Amino acid sequence: MPKAEETVLEIDLGNLAHNYRFLRSKIDEGVKFMSVVKAHAYGSDSVVIAKKLEELGTDYFAVAYVEEGIRLRKHGITKPILVLHPQIIHFEEIIEHCLEPNLYSKRTLSSFISIAEKLNQKDYPIHIKLNTGLNRLGFDQPEVNNVHNLIQDSKAVKIASVFSHLAASEDWKERDFTVGQIDLFRKMAWELIENLDYEPLLHICNTSGVINYPKAAFSMVRTGIGLYGYGNDENVDPELKPIGTLKTIISQIREIKPGDTVGYNRVFKTENISRIATLPIGHADGINRIYGKQKTGVYINKQFAPIVGNVCMDIIMIDVTGIECEEGDEVIVFGGPQHPVQFAKAAGTISYELITGIQRRVSRKVIPE
Ligand SMILES: *Cc1c(COP(=O)(O)O)cnc(C)c1O
Repeated sequence: MPKAEETVLEIDLGNLAHNYRFLRSKIDEGVKFMSVVKAHAYGSDSVVIAKKLEELGTDYFAVAYVEEGIRLRKHGITKPILVLHPQIIHFEEIIEHCLEPNLYSKRTLSSFISIAEKLNQKDYPIHIKLNTGLNRLGFDQPEVNNVHNLIQDSKAVKIASVFSHLAASEDWKERDFTVGQIDLFRKMAWELIENLDYEPLLHICNTSGVINYPKAAFSMVRTGIGLYGYGNDENVDPELKPIGTLKTIISQIREIKPGDTVGYNRVFKTENISRIATLPIGHADGINRIYGKQKTGVYINKQFAPIVGNVCMDIIMIDVTGIECEEGDEVIVFGGPQHPVQFAKAAGTISYELITGIQRRVSRKVIPE
């Protein structure tokens, strides 16, 4: 029986390389590849992942917030980094650390231009986001003229790329809507760039875009979840390899008698003599309360053990009745015998939320390629 020492998220860089090559193979060679490493590279380790992706040949990175980009720069990442959702208060830091802002509104665009001018920048790379139906960030079609005017008047900035984001690229029922978004993007982007004397990159595809609409790759794709091993589709999932395996250890085992309860608020009550094991992982580690009350479970020596009662802050209890195991044994929360998608789904959530939720206090162990 494998033994364990503590709760660990293993990060397999061989799997990352596999996923990168798989996604790359879906698009033409000339298309650039932007790796999305926001939120600690989807809950893994942004520095380790970005270094490996640079080695694999990624062209660009994307993060959500400025602080995430600064962290990559401080650890020696040199490829361009797009900041998807920067706030104006951080615009000087963006320039100081050679990060590239997504400018998605008149407010953000005009303030970035004035800060770039104040800092004597010339042709500073910026990215313009267009709203084609997600209705989240971006310029609407009637505003494209404004972008044009604001930028034309300034020598301080230069459009590195024009992009948009798909609302339902993984959902075949929304195929018509998605094709409409792609068409609108083509039209709006063209309106914006036709009079420029240089050619910005164009991009709209996220992971499911690459898989389902590879002809809409334009000159770059932006993939996140696929790199980490998830295809948002049960036919694609087997082609990818989740990079993370979350393991923990049995801290204690006890036997309880019929009528005894387990955990806070006495939510789980036994009818039979049961063996209950206690694990050092809880909602403060990212295994939220939605995973408790037997909605999901973990694996010990390839056998399933349900999480019983409420998930505590630092602890969960599992029912190991009939499972051969002892204190100190290894427990797999997800990965290996339990596909993380299956674990997330059983609790009513998605892979994105599960993996980005694994907190910093869980040790990371990197497995090299
Ligand atoms: C997070 C994000 C992505 C990556 O999407 P995946 O589905 O993880 O590939 C791409 N573009 C934008 C704007 C994002 O916010």
